[in-house]
Amino acid sequence: MKLHEYQSKKIFDRFDVPIPKGRVANIASEAKQIAEELGGRVVIKSQVLVGGRGKAGGIKLAKDPKQAKELATEILGMEIKGLPVRKILVDEIVDIDQEIYLGITNDRTCRQPVVIASSSGGIDIEEVAQISPEKIFKLTIDPLLGLQDFQVRDIALGIDLRREYWKQFIKILRGLYRAYLDTDATLAEINPLVITKDKRLIALDAKMIIDDNALFRHPEMMELRDLDVEAPAEIEAQKYGLSYIKLDGDIGCMVNGAGLAMATMDIISQFGGKPSNFLDIGGGAGATKVAAALRIILSDPNVKVILINIFGGITRCDEVAKGLLSALADVKTKVPVVVRLVGTNAEEGLKLLVNEKILTANTLAEAANISVRLSTGGAS
Ligand code: GDP
Ligand code: MN
Repeated sequence: MKLHEYQSKKIFDRFDVPIPKGRVANIASEAKQIAEELGGRVVIKSQVLVGGRGKAGGIKLAKDPKQAKELATEILGMEIKGLPVRKILVDEIVDIDQEIYLGITNDRTCRQPVVIASSSGGIDIEEVAQISPEKIFKLTIDPLLGLQDFQVRDIALGIDLRREYWKQFIKILRGLYRAYLDTDATLAEINPLVITKDKRLIALDAKMIIDDNALFRHPEMMELRDLDVEAPAEIEAQKYGLSYIKLDGDIGCMVNGAGLAMATMDIISQFGGKPSNFLDIGGGAGATKVAAALRIILSDPNVKVILINIFGGITRCDEVAKGLLSALADVKTKVPVVVRLVGTNAEEGLKLLVNEKILTANTLAEAANISVRLSTGGAS
């Protein structure tokens, strides 16, 4: 789950990472009021979950409260990379001397958190990595030992940070690491971390991504979710405890078990087709869950055929069949459905499915073959 800048800054603040004074607003008149409180000069920042807002015109400096209101109106009417601006952050203006990049993310190869720092902050770190990779300093952290003092000094040295700023920098990096750990983040990024003209280090921008798999440990985070930017089908799936990921193919998949779901997708690919989603309905899925899964798959207009692959262990095949029938009665689709059912109560399940709309297959290969043919317009 991606957090907005203003949300990430609130977390930073809790961990003693200095941020500019400011507040979030959703109407222009509020921007004027915040500007008055902050002494007049403010920066108005669109809160959308994409990078490069500055370049897209989503960040503007106002010299007084009146202009703050004008710019706020303008920015609140914008769409940035397809996302409507619903909120703005109104922050005090900071006079910048230098922009630094500082981020922590998961290094999946090392299986450790990695600190990434660069003296070339302010622009996309991917861009820096391409143009001047020598300007990027990386250091992995052993999660058992934590961030060691010598490592923090190495990073400060690595980005040629002047000694006078080390004390502030160390506090910020330590705070950022604690924020990253405490929230189960997969990214905690400050870009830019600025050195101000009056020699303070401040996080001018903030970006955090929280690991979705750890969200259950952070009920307070669920409230931070911006449902505008998440695929509605994925939100719906979460409600029913289904793991659904939308993909860009045209064969809908409904499978029990994540491993079997991946194998099903592989086999579809092997037969030359493309899955439209990953969907694990889990063990012991009853009729309601199956119906929800079917509706979610069909909410994607690209779907030309649905392949249902159930290996009944805990999940009873007759339950799945019942769910399927009630969902099909409900949804009324012309999309053909191919079913492979094996395991517990498979026979009962298949009997229930004797219906002209549903094609049954004995093996996964057969089911995949039929599905791919149907998706490419061939007859079954
Ligand atoms: P991003 O473009 O979405 O990454 O948004 P940022 O928050 O990183 O802002 C982009 C750029 O706007 C920064 O690199 C700064 O150069 C500039 N900027 C943002 N806030 C301020 C500010 O308070 N003062 C000044 N002078 N520039 C700012
Ligand atoms: Mn930025």
